[in-house]
Formats: sequence, C-alpha cells, structure tokens
Amino acid sequence: MIPIASATDSGCTDAPVLRERGQREVFCGLTGIVWLHRKMQDAFFLVVGSRTCAHLLQSAAGVMIFAEPRFATAIIDDRDLAGLADANDELDRVVTRLLERRPDIKLLFLVGSCPSEVIKLDLQRAAQRLGQRFLPRVRVLSYSGSGIETTFTQGEDACLAALVPTLPATAQPGLLVVGALADVVEAQFKRLFSGLGIGPVQFLPARQLADLPAVGPQTRYLLAQPFLADTARALEERGACRIAAPFPLGVEGTTAWLRAAATAYGVNEARLQQVTGPAVDRARQALAPHRARLAGKRIFFFPDSQLELPLARFVARELGMQLTEVGMPFLHRQHMAEELALLPAGTRLSEGQDVERQLDRCRADAPDLVVCGLGLANPLEAEGLTTKWSIELVFSPIHGYEQAADLAALFARPLHRRQLLAAA
Ligand code: SF4
Repeated sequence: MIPIASATDSGCTDAPVLRERGQREVFCGLTGIVWLHRKMQDAFFLVVGSRTCAHLLQSAAGVMIFAEPRFATAIIDDRDLAGLADANDELDRVVTRLLERRPDIKLLFLVGSCPSEVIKLDLQRAAQRLGQRFLPRVRVLSYSGSGIETTFTQGEDACLAALVPTLPATAQPGLLVVGALADVVEAQFKRLFSGLGIGPVQFLPARQLADLPAVGPQTRYLLAQPFLADTARALEERGACRIAAPFPLGVEGTTAWLRAAATAYGVNEARLQQVTGPAVDRARQALAPHRARLAGKRIFFFPDSQLELPLARFVARELGMQLTEVGMPFLHRQHMAEELALLPAGTRLSEGQDVERQLDRCRADAPDLVVCGLGLANPLEAEGLTTKWSIELVFSPIHGYEQAADLAALFARPLHRRQLLAAA
C-alpha cells in the first residue's frame, strides 16, 4: 500500500456510521451492462434471466438497444423454472446460435440474474464448458448481476473481477487505472500521466479484448471508481499493489488522485503543478458560476451508486453545499479512507438502507436537493422535493478536470428546473 502525501485532515475518518439493514430501493447489477457494453467494443453480455431483466435493460439502455446491440437476454421460461427443460442445453443452443451469427464477438459474458440463481444454474461451469468449445475464437466468462447479490454498480465490479484472472501476466512495472471511464476521460488522463513521465499506463476495462492489460507483482493500480472491491482483491491476488487515493472527481479529487500516482513514482510537486496547472485553472473558472448557484444549498444522498462519498466531498468542498446525510450501499473503509478524511467533520453517514426510516429523515431535513434512485425520485418530487437521479451520475463522463463543471451542472440543473417551474 502506498500512502498519499495529502489528506492530513481527519474529517469523518472516525465518524459514527448509521448501519441500516431493511428494505432497499436500488437497481440490480445488470444495470452495469448499459455502460460496460459501450466501453468493451468486442464483448457481448448475455443475461440469463427473465422478461423482467430484459425490460430493465431495455428501459435503462433506451434506444441504444436498436443500435448494434452488444447485449441480450436468454429468457428462462416456465419450463426451465419447472425443471421440465435442461437449462444448460438451452443455454448452449442460444450461445451457439449467437456466436455463429456474430463473428465480431471476442468475449462473451454469461450474466447471472435472480431467476438463474433461483434455479441454481451454474453459469461458471457453463462458461468453462462453452469456453472450451469456442476458444480461441471467443473467450467465455460469467458473473452475477442479480438483485439478490448485487446493487447497481457492483455489476461492473463483478464483471471486472471475472476478467482479472484471465489477464496476461507480466513482471514489468506499470500503472493500471481500474474502472470504466468515458473514452474522452481516458484520453485526458493518458495525457496527464504522460506529462508527469509516468508509464506505461493501461486501463481496465480495455476497449478490445486484445488490449487487455497485463498484471503482476510490479503493477501498481489506481482505482478510478469507488465500487470495485472484488476487482481490487482479484488484482492483489495477482500481486498488484493499490495506490491509495481519493477518487478523481472534481478539481481537488483529480489533483489528489494524480498526486498519489506522482508520489508513488517519485514525481515532485513542482512538476505535478506544472503539468496540471492549466487544467486546474480552467476547471476552477468553469466551476465558479455553479458554486455561486449551489453554495449553501442542502443536499441529501440516498444510497445507490456507491459514488456517494466522493460526490459528497466534491459538492461540499468545491461547491460549498451543505451535507444533510450521505448514504451509501456499503462503506469500504480502506478504499474510502482518503475520502472520509476530506469530508466535513460532523457529516451524517449511513450505510445500507431501511428505506422508510431514511425517507422520514429526508423529509425532516427538507433538503434543497435529494440524490436518489429512479424509484424514489418521482414520489419525492410529488412531495415537493427536488431530486437528481444517481444513475445519471454513473452514465455521464464526470471524472477529471475537464468534466468537473459538467459534474457540478448535474447538481445545478434540477434546482434551476424547479426555479423555472416555480416562476411559471
Ligand atoms: Fe429484477 Fe433480479 Fe432481473 Fe435484476 S436480476 S432485473 S432484480 S429479476
């Protein structure tokens, strides 16, 4: 573990966390396919699930499903559920037909769902069986996106964790950036690392199977997303070492993230400032009008995407917003240590969910803005609260300097819309 030089403030490091284990209102891990299929250009995601799973994906992905689809659902029907058909035979047939029709597929993920878990369909074994049949043309892997096992962004974690054991081995040193990022953000980070003289730098996931990074005991990795606990564990089993850092959201988070890498690679502060200075200045200028609009506004985060802590740190420290509650599905103390240290002391933190109790706290707080999942947004809007869908914060490019103002705008827009409606 390589500690970062900054983050000396203890903030919320030792703050109490309200732990709730009641009814949850969150998406399942299948949702991750919506952004992963865009990133991994020669991969295909075959959900082994029900019509509900297919509907979730279609509505979450919107019109994209009609444009060169790289995901689909193999429907488990009543005969499978009743044990009248051999689900493995059916799955083999569906996969064979798919791969015959689609020679462009190089990597196939069999994605588990609630129904496939209920009938105890062993997708790992199915992936091994099908992998043997279709290698070397297609690699077949499996992971679970079921709502029983995963929330929303954990689908990406499960997918990347499934990939890690298949990555080539290397004894060479290198930096690995982990977590799906928009291509434009990846290009910006590449330029910044190159300016700092840090390299070689690779990204997981890669756009093509052939470009998947190699990993080994000389690999240092930086998490770009805060929901990758299983992936991190799998990388460490391959010998890789995490560079501890806050997440690259906002100007401060991005600088601290880059500084952590710079420190690990022996790059001095003067060079860091020289390389990042112009982007920092541009981003601060672009943030200023949003800060003017958002400073002092009170914000409540329901647990959903696992991005809540870094987002809360950004809106509090860079936009001057007041945090009423920051809820998160899980608190990974090790990966979040630097974020917790930067949060304003006294922030109310909660982990897990008991949705009715949390709604009561939210109503009592009467915040100016609520960040929550789609299921809660409409009822809260109907009660007069202003909401932001947390899913949008995952779908949009929000990492890095050039996106800091876009990220701020995502918080400013619902408040602006509410003002316009009030004035109409
Ligand atoms: Fe619903 Fe489970 Fe399918 Fe997700 S995996 S859409 S929670 S049935």
